Amino acid sequence: MLAERDDAAAWRARDLAVLWHPCTQMREHPDTLPLLPVERGEGAWLIGRDGRRYLDAISSWWTNIHGHAEPRIAEAIARQARTLEHVILAGVSHAPAVELAERLLAIAPREPGRAPLAKVFYADNGSAGVEVALKMAFHWFRNRGIDGRTKFVALANGYHGETLGALAVGDIPLYRRVYAPLLAEALFAPSPDAYPCAAGETPAQRADRAADALAALLQAHAGEVCALILEPLVQCAGGMRMHHPQYLRRVRELCDRHGVFLIADEIAVGFGRTGTLFACEQAGIQPDLMCVSKGLTGGALPLAAVLATQALYDGFLDDSRERAFLHSHSYTGNPLACAAALASLAIFEQDEVLARNRVTAQGMAERARAIGAQPHVADVRQTGMIVAFELTRDGDKATPFDPARRTGLRAYRAALERGVLLRPLGDVLYWMPPYCVDEAALDHLAEVTAAAIRIATGDPA
Ligand SMILES: *Cc1c(COP(=O)(O)O)cnc(C)c1O
Repeated sequence: MLAERDDAAAWRARDLAVLWHPCTQMREHPDTLPLLPVERGEGAWLIGRDGRRYLDAISSWWTNIHGHAEPRIAEAIARQARTLEHVILAGVSHAPAVELAERLLAIAPREPGRAPLAKVFYADNGSAGVEVALKMAFHWFRNRGIDGRTKFVALANGYHGETLGALAVGDIPLYRRVYAPLLAEALFAPSPDAYPCAAGETPAQRADRAADALAALLQAHAGEVCALILEPLVQCAGGMRMHHPQYLRRVRELCDRHGVFLIADEIAVGFGRTGTLFACEQAGIQPDLMCVSKGLTGGALPLAAVLATQALYDGFLDDSRERAFLHSHSYTGNPLACAAALASLAIFEQDEVLARNRVTAQGMAERARAIGAQPHVADVRQTGMIVAFELTRDGDKATPFDPARRTGLRAYRAALERGVLLRPLGDVLYWMPPYCVDEAALDHLAEVTAAAIRIATGDPA
């Protein structure tokens, strides 16, 4: 036991000597924020260098779908690596890129009477995919000789990534504020978030009120806006805030009325996370551009895809090269990543994943309900395979904990000591596990979450 502890400590020192970790105040390592050295993954579990098992309750930043080290995905990557690991995609074609594009277009959201999504452009991470969609929407109008449509509309509390273009349409002060002088100006519409519903207001009414405000914004900026970007159903980084699908129907209508492209950022919610394969399906709408990434490869490799309509694509066909979409990334359409994505999509069918998830989501709901009865839990909300717990000082929606108290961080540490990797967003704890999570793992998750909340909020056991 002592030897194991020594090994973990030595490893932490070796790591911190050379690594700058993402989204981390490095000064908090290792004392305030323990660093978890992981050796391997197995299904929904991570196995630490200390030999202990940790449930990956957040799917490794929402990427993992079918579990870690999934043998079918590993095999697909290995096979592809022995055949063609990478090749330039400009002027070159290869099977994984074409087959994946065919699959994605076949499963993309459809709306009766609307021309389907028809073309796929690859990028290599979510932020890059968002940049592609924003640039495409803007450029399309330029190609038509329309120079006045230079603005993007985004939602309050939204998140679309960390690169400067994506950050400009994001609204999370912690990530955005310091870079504000560098960012293009965007127009922000109120969030349809149902959490702070006014007294007596239903989530559908809240959605309508937010849509009315959006209508006024688009009216005030008529002819100036090229695209609207949003996260359908769940604003994930913004604290797993959820809204009624009615909002998306209204947005679709408003975008049509004002000739504005609708960009659905399904990077976090795509591939079954909300219960349907894509979140847009629950509103019966189809976007003009759809960004997917995180779960696309099942969580194995970085890859993003932007799906576009034929009309959007046609707007770039011209004799001039400048009217082409001259955007690229060195690893655009990487064959290994595409092969992993094809394997992940095949597993959805082989294992009837969406049907199984309906049962799992039910199990999550039952366990979450009991936790919701604990003091300090102001809200329990769920959309499909995402459950969130809002912790507040008095257990009501109006009195948050003092952020300096670091309630969420306390819960993180308490859960880690008990074998669960949670990573709260501020004081919002959430479950977003790999879909292969079983009943025993859910029991463990619920037990540890309940304890972590008690410890973090200072309640007696
Ligand atoms: C994570 C995320 C992104 C950014 O993806 P990265 O791969 O981290 O760059 C964009 N949009 C949403 C909704 C996300 O959750």
